[in-house]
Amino acid sequence: MGNITLKKVNKSFGTTQVIPGIDLTISEGEFVVFVGPSGCGKSTLLRLIAGLEDTSAGTIEIDGRDVTGMAPAKRGLAMVFQSYALYPHMTVRNNIAFPLKMAKLDQETIDKKVTEAARVLNLTNYLDRRPGQLSGGQRQRVAIGRAIVREPSAFLFDEPLSNLDAALRGTMRLEISELHHQLKTTMIYVTHDQVEAMTMADKIVVLNAGNIEQVGSPLDLYHRPDNIFVAGFIGSPR
Ligand code: ADP
Ligand code: MG
Repeated sequence: MGNITLKKVNKSFGTTQVIPGIDLTISEGEFVVFVGPSGCGKSTLLRLIAGLEDTSAGTIEIDGRDVTGMAPAKRGLAMVFQSYALYPHMTVRNNIAFPLKMAKLDQETIDKKVTEAARVLNLTNYLDRRPGQLSGGQRQRVAIGRAIVREPSAFLFDEPLSNLDAALRGTMRLEISELHHQLKTTMIYVTHDQVEAMTMADKIVVLNAGNIEQVGSPLDLYHRPDNIFVAGFIGSPR
């Protein structure tokens, strides 16, 4: 579960081609980071995988199933939005339970899943609070909890820490890495921050103007950058 294959994926908005054609394989359990400068197409690529944008050409497969054109809810993936996407008037419990209520699961199952997600995320003592009564890090964990309860085959994160201060970002990076170790689910994480990419990824995909410049482990990219762009962006010694 969580194998994702992109074949010649192309995306244009009107006459502007944002992604000329990408081939990429993501394997079960990998922590993959899409990194690159602002405007290079990271969010667009993630949204294509999530189904929030339609591909202009090419195919996307998840676990061997062609999901091109399929509605987001049917892809079995969970997109984690920034913590400000929480419902301010709902308790933590109801924020996390929301997708399960939408899916019309029975209350007992919902309670069980919410309790388990809260345990994993250290939110057990905060279930009756509202987002406004939480720290930025706790709010981010609630946003992740809302994804976890759906037991997705992969988690998709789009710059989830960009509105947190530097110290909290460091803590949250560790927490998300720890979560990946616990769940062992495929995670795709978008960032423009090289440090985030180098410290969190199993595999880094370096994007530049909609093209993949290199795919490799942090060590590969650091020691063997394919080109000047990668070397410059990652800050390797070349
Ligand atoms: P990143 O996430 O790497 O900063 P994006 O994927 O958001 O980059 O954007 C890539 C390019 O596509 C940018 O030039 C952006 O202006 C353009 N773009 C993104 N979404 C749209 C859209 N809905 N309509 C038109 N252009 C878009
Ligand atoms: Mg973006």
